[in-house]
Amino acid sequence: RAKQTGPDGLSFFSEDMNQRAVDRLNLEAGLRRAIDRDELLLHYQPKVSIETGAIIGAEALVRWRHPERGLVPPAEFVPVAEESGLIVHVSNWVLEAACRQIRQWMDEGLPAMHIAVNLSARDFSSSLPARVQELLERHKIGAEWLELEITEGMLMHHTAKVVAMMDEITALGVALSLDDFGTGYSSLSYLKRFPIDTLKIDRSFVISIPDDVDDCAIAGAIVSMSKQLKHNVIAEGVESGDQLAFLKSLGCDEIQGYLFSPPVPAETFAAMVREGKRLAA
Ligand code: C2E
Ligand code: MG
Ligand code: MG
Ligand code: MG
Repeated sequence: RAKQTGPDGLSFFSEDMNQRAVDRLNLEAGLRRAIDRDELLLHYQPKVSIETGAIIGAEALVRWRHPERGLVPPAEFVPVAEESGLIVHVSNWVLEAACRQIRQWMDEGLPAMHIAVNLSARDFSSSLPARVQELLERHKIGAEWLELEITEGMLMHHTAKVVAMMDEITALGVALSLDDFGTGYSSLSYLKRFPIDTLKIDRSFVISIPDDVDDCAIAGAIVSMSKQLKHNVIAEGVESGDQLAFLKSLGCDEIQGYLFSPPVPAETFAAMVREGKRLAA
């Protein structure tokens, strides 16, 4: 099998379909062992203020340090984990690991900032607020450190219950952001109803700006809607200075992307914060 290394050191495999099917059968068992053996790890991708250029937080992104395959990206195991229900164990591991890391950064005197954890639809159950509260208390973490990224799909059903749960989470002081915004079934009415702090413009709308007029219009519409609804707005997957300049002209608040940094190990992220690494204007 051909092994290739991606921009942030992740490995990808080109495989035929039979191999894929076999891999998929083994994946679930492998992932169960991975959780037990602590083969998962988190990388952190900085989020940066466009106005000040300073790091304002990070997104925690899970990887699997596979004994034979090396660092496996989440696209190769999160979807399968979501289908099998194993995602709940993955998410528990991720929440624990992120909170342990936050505790360590607090002890080291790192300034408080949002560390965002991605959740899947299955994690979004009525027990979530209590779990989040328990984590904050057990790790003795200020709620201002934690952010949860959810997707539009999670907001589709059981509206009243979901709103109540989200209100409970935000009442703890934990910020909520809406990931991959624009790729789901967005509607203005639910943006008003749900207690969302931040909208994340999906990378698919960012990739072709400023050349593609339609994507520019979509990005512009999301930014101005965010402003009017008093939400923070961040653009994902910003890779170029031209993209940054355009987003800045729209009044977008923050960016995340390879232009500033790919996801990096925890120590590397902390070093960037300590050194005061900034986005070049
Ligand atoms: P996401 O939450 O939208 O995360 C952003 C993804 O975009 C990350 O991919 C990140 O590495 C990538 N990215 C950031 N900047 C750039 C850029 O400038 N260019 C390009 N080409 N890509 C960029 P990653 O880490 O492979 O994660 C993929 C997806 O896997 C995530 O998308 C999220 O949906 C899921 N995921 C990752 N970690 C977790 C987790 O702990 N739990 C759950 N449930 N899902 C996770
Ligand atoms: Mg995310
Ligand atoms: Mg995203
Ligand atoms: Mg995305």
